[in-house]
Amino acid sequence: MQFKSTRSDTLVSFKDAILNCLPEGGGLYVPDSVLDMRQYILYMDSGTTYPELVATVAPALLQGELNPFSADRVAESTFDFEPQLRQLDDTLSVLTLCNGPTGVFKDYGIAFLAAVMEELLQNDKNDRRSSAGRAMILSAARGDTGVSIAHAFSGRKGMTSVIIYPSGPVRGLDPASYVTNGGNVISIQIKGTFDDCQRLILEALNDRPFAARYGITSGNAINPGRLLPQVFYYFYAFIKLKKILTGELVFSVPTGNFGNLIAGLYAWKMGMPVNGFIAAMNANNAFGDYIKGEAFKPGKLIRTNSPALDVSAPSNYERLASFYAEAPAVMRHMVYPDTIDDRTTLAAMETAWKKYGILLDPHSAVAFAAARRLTRGAGGFNGHVVVLATGHPAKHTELVSRATGQQVPIPKKFTKLWKKTDPMATISPQLDALEGAIASCC
Ligand SMILES: *Cc1c(COP(=O)(O)O)cnc(C)c1O
Repeated sequence: MQFKSTRSDTLVSFKDAILNCLPEGGGLYVPDSVLDMRQYILYMDSGTTYPELVATVAPALLQGELNPFSADRVAESTFDFEPQLRQLDDTLSVLTLCNGPTGVFKDYGIAFLAAVMEELLQNDKNDRRSSAGRAMILSAARGDTGVSIAHAFSGRKGMTSVIIYPSGPVRGLDPASYVTNGGNVISIQIKGTFDDCQRLILEALNDRPFAARYGITSGNAINPGRLLPQVFYYFYAFIKLKKILTGELVFSVPTGNFGNLIAGLYAWKMGMPVNGFIAAMNANNAFGDYIKGEAFKPGKLIRTNSPALDVSAPSNYERLASFYAEAPAVMRHMVYPDTIDDRTTLAAMETAWKKYGILLDPHSAVAFAAARRLTRGAGGFNGHVVVLATGHPAKHTELVSRATGQQVPIPKKFTKLWKKTDPMATISPQLDALEGAIASCC
């Protein structure tokens, strides 16, 4: 499978796309054409484990780049956590994706990216170019994303992970993983906002001589190596469910920056039989007008009780637009936008608990509410909706108890996430300061 920029037709390999993830002429990398995976997904049985699925599908997709032995190692070293599909009734299932190290579905993409990068770099060791066999992964982080990235890249051969944070407390990092203590993680705080951090990453990637010297790429969503592995859990839900499917299959996806939705669309393009996707949004729903055929206009950012969906200017927009540019009419039948307000989100958390005995985080509840609106709609619905549970309820204990009256048990791994840690350096939000900090650490 090859990749191209949303703004050009030059093809690059998967390895080039993940190790040099910002295309020269701007835009974002997307798969050029996708392979038909039906021979795998239609015939895998429901007993297939997640690592088995990944070890089968990944080398099929990445033919010529990732051999089956490498894929086995990647799957084994990545997935000590796996999705769970839970059928609630004839029309609804929940696919739980919040059992990774930081309790968000993003762990799936980040962990695979780190493992596959290490594998591909190790295969390169005989290459005599100076940067061959090593990479520096620059990522902007807020919330627990930094921990997910540090966890995934920590200790991997040939790689240094530089994580930059906006002003405010930094939490959950393990100082033993810092380069100053013999590890491969560098944490830098920027005196500025998260937007400053994202701008600095782009500036550093665009300083091509500097980026080439250190082999710089990014671990943020711009890296297509995070998008690809999200396809695997859609396949997983399908193989677990296919025996009971009689009518339509729809996924309800809590949608912020569109990454998860786009991965679902790729799963469909690869031949997974699916009838549609609900783009479940909170009040930040400018995408709805776009689907109806209007130009995409970023709305004003509205704060809600599902903060990961509070995205007004999605960085993945160009990737989504590439689908619509190809076949707008098909897309209008494939993606149904829905908007769920804060009150309905809380009510959905209550319903999920009272009716099915499950605790949902607010993001998953947005998708759950939208799914119920479809299955119980006036037109009748003959099919099955899979709700993606993207976040862990233990990270929203106050809201979950308010909605359900339940105390959420907190898994032990989360208490580490909340421990304050000191970054290695604090710098002003300028590229030369960032480059100086990197140079002094390496
Ligand atoms: C990031 C995030 C989302 C949104 O996913 P996108 O791929 O950005 O649309 C949904 N739920 C949770 C818990 C998240 O962390």
